Amino acid sequence: MAKFVYFFGNGEADGRADMKNLLGGKGANLAEMTSIGLPVPPGFTITTEVCTEFYKNNSAYPAGLNDEVAANLKRVEQLMGRTFGDAVNPLLVSVRSGARASMPGMMDTVLNLGLNDTTVQGIIAQSGDERFAYDAYRRFVQMYSDVVMGMDKEALEHLLEQKKEEKGVHLDTDLTAADWKDLVAKFKARIREVLGQEFPEDPQEQLWGAIGAVFGSWMNQRAITYRKLNNIPADWGTAVNVQSMVFGNMGDDCATGVAFTRDPSTGDNYFYGEYLVNAQGEDVVAGIRTPQPINLHQKKEGDLPAMEEVLPECYQQLAGIRQILEKHYKDMQDIEFTIEKGKLYMLQTRNGKRTACAAIKIAVDMVKEGLIDEKAAILRVQPSQLDQLLHPSLDPKAPKKIIAKGLPASPGAAAGTAVFTADEAELLARNGQKVILVRIETSPEDIHGMHAAQGILTARGGMTSHAAVVARGMGKCCVAGCGDLKVDYASQSFTARHGVVIKKGDLITLDGSTGEVIMGEVATVPPQLTGDFATLMEWVDKYRKLKVRTNADTPNDSKVAREFGAEGIGLCRTEHMFFEADRIMAVREMILAEDLEGREKALAKILPMQKGDFIGIFREMKGLPVTIRLLDPPLHEFLPTEDKDIEALTKTLNVTTQQLKHKVEFLHEFNPMLGHRGCRLGLTYPEIYDMQVQAIMEAACELVKNEGFSIVPEIMIPLIATVSELKELKANAVAVCEEVMASYGVKLEYLIGTMIELPRAALTADEIATEAEFFSFGTNDLTQTTFGLSRDDAGKFLPFYVETNLLPEDPFVTLDQNGVGKLVKMACELGRSTRPEIKLGICGEHGGDPASVIFCHKVGLDYVSCSPFRVPIARLAAAHAVLAGN
Ligand code: PEP
Ligand code: MG
Repeated sequence: MAKFVYFFGNGEADGRADMKNLLGGKGANLAEMTSIGLPVPPGFTITTEVCTEFYKNNSAYPAGLNDEVAANLKRVEQLMGRTFGDAVNPLLVSVRSGARASMPGMMDTVLNLGLNDTTVQGIIAQSGDERFAYDAYRRFVQMYSDVVMGMDKEALEHLLEQKKEEKGVHLDTDLTAADWKDLVAKFKARIREVLGQEFPEDPQEQLWGAIGAVFGSWMNQRAITYRKLNNIPADWGTAVNVQSMVFGNMGDDCATGVAFTRDPSTGDNYFYGEYLVNAQGEDVVAGIRTPQPINLHQKKEGDLPAMEEVLPECYQQLAGIRQILEKHYKDMQDIEFTIEKGKLYMLQTRNGKRTACAAIKIAVDMVKEGLIDEKAAILRVQPSQLDQLLHPSLDPKAPKKIIAKGLPASPGAAAGTAVFTADEAELLARNGQKVILVRIETSPEDIHGMHAAQGILTARGGMTSHAAVVARGMGKCCVAGCGDLKVDYASQSFTARHGVVIKKGDLITLDGSTGEVIMGEVATVPPQLTGDFATLMEWVDKYRKLKVRTNADTPNDSKVAREFGAEGIGLCRTEHMFFEADRIMAVREMILAEDLEGREKALAKILPMQKGDFIGIFREMKGLPVTIRLLDPPLHEFLPTEDKDIEALTKTLNVTTQQLKHKVEFLHEFNPMLGHRGCRLGLTYPEIYDMQVQAIMEAACELVKNEGFSIVPEIMIPLIATVSELKELKANAVAVCEEVMASYGVKLEYLIGTMIELPRAALTADEIATEAEFFSFGTNDLTQTTFGLSRDDAGKFLPFYVETNLLPEDPFVTLDQNGVGKLVKMACELGRSTRPEIKLGICGEHGGDPASVIFCHKVGLDYVSCSPFRVPIARLAAAHAVLAGN
């Protein structure tokens, strides 16, 4: 027969810590603490299976549950020497929820259960404290009527307020036994009036009412929403813990508190916690009284006395328990305790939540202390948590006034004055001002302003919008797609929530990790990448199989990425170089040239600059592999859009405004993402790619010849759909490479490969691999083209899809493994079938997303490539992929 109830008490327990699925986290750990000899008030846990049955069978309990509950209650009574419902020596219990995963505050709790007009007399006699007894009683009536009977809390609060007014006092503690007694009666009358129902006097009825309410709370709206947000399945169910009450509010030799076995914000190996003398647990959380530090280490000037001073014996016992728990659980614990008349009781333990910084310190320290091994330490730190560490972040202690919220597009924090054009951003930054660039959305033309700004704020665009991708690449904080904003370029201002207007020159702060836009300047704290962080990352590198490269377009980005541990460049987007102030004119000249001769003339001006860029990057990467992608975006992206820029260009190019506008119109496309871009440009204007290949090879040859570098350039051709496209472009590139090498008199190895960004490329990867020496999955475009979903416009409706569960996640953030992932997997297999040694990598934004990195490991890619600031995240995720058996 199934067992529905698990007992714990007096050193013995039916359950264990590893029975969380059945007993919930709280129940399993109460059992475990009992078994290892810690002082836990006795009680029992009704299993999560009962919850599941309850919902399956129309809110009916399985047969036999009643008897099991009764038998276990009897055991508790025997241990406590008290009887449930007894007039002389009554047992009171708490009834609490406890799911497999912690769901703080989501479900219901009832304390002091078993009180009625008869048993309260017993409590008075036992405690010798009438005020305490009636205070406990009224708390019970308040909680029970709220949780079990569905009474509006406010109605009873109101009566309490009235009472205080009547007595001319402000604090609950100023009310007397008679006041509480009177209130209990008033509460009950009010409940009868509102609900047309008596408050139950029968303790058994109370008990089953509370058990039913806790099971019922599994399906309350709060809990449902929380589960959805945290991916907790509804069929897990909650357990119910019925435990003998202990009281922290019976006098000054009583207390209650919460503590962490190490500091949860820094990870320092100190006992850290708060307590209140003469209080019940809810008082600590409610914030009515200021909690006191538990020990002298933590006590600051002006703090109230520490528990170590006030209750030294209990403190020493608790400090001992701290050691026992850490040794036993081998992790930092978050505990709750109560002291009743000088006797310490443990009410809860669980693995404590912690900041990223603390997670790393604790993991590394515990290896040094011999508690865990390196592998366990690696798994203790979540890859996504690292984001917090890699950028400056807002000082958590600083106050902030949030005026809008957008997408957390690129993490970190930044403060500066609002500016509305890239030129202005550059100008002010040059004068030493910190600025935030605010745009409706950004375009490649804004790059210089984005570089100059501390942070970027856009009103439109999603997680892979231009602003988001470029900002992440730069490691710059960005809040994108902030629908709260109405940006008005004409008046150089924006309107945020509640009509707050920010004008040019006003100070704002962005939190790119939360998407918050804040008025004024909020202080920040810098990232720390040495010490424990470095130690953990060393371990990570020992275990991972995937290589991690970076997406970088400048020597500076390359340097940052190498410091973060990048093992090469997986994507150098050459178009970003075209926007540099000293060359955009030549680029425009090239685009607007009437014939081949004109284009070649302009390209000849760009060649030495491109070569210089590549030399810089090769040098910075010190022989690590570098993949350079030939020009990808449609040409009109390089043309000016604003009248003043068009005007300036006509002068330089010596053409009329009319001619220029005509050309711009001619280049206009309805669907530029699917238009004249990528290899299609290289095929129709081969001279562009020829120039780029020449620049790459000359840069490499010079470094090899003059500086003894060893470089294997990887030339990458974007947006290939058919093998014929690649065949032709490869032949062109090979010809240029051979020519350059001959002219330098050096011979070096080079690779020519392609991006897989279109479904047709993935489907015909076997054919494409006959030409391609490597594949790099461009999963930004591959997601866009597989879903038929515009990267730049999806922000308008994609959040709706995610909110309503039409999609589990934004597919531009986390790779859609079932669809896009299937294409990736297929392309890997097809590619290897015709070229077994083919190098495989990914360079879409997914290369820095932990879940996607794990997928990349599984399909057997050689490397992932991501923004410099995500490199450590990808390294850690790659190690998790190996160690977690994913
Ligand atoms: C991609 O499409 O995934 C990619 C890396 O290229 P881009 O984002 O430059 O289009
Ligand atoms: Mg692409």
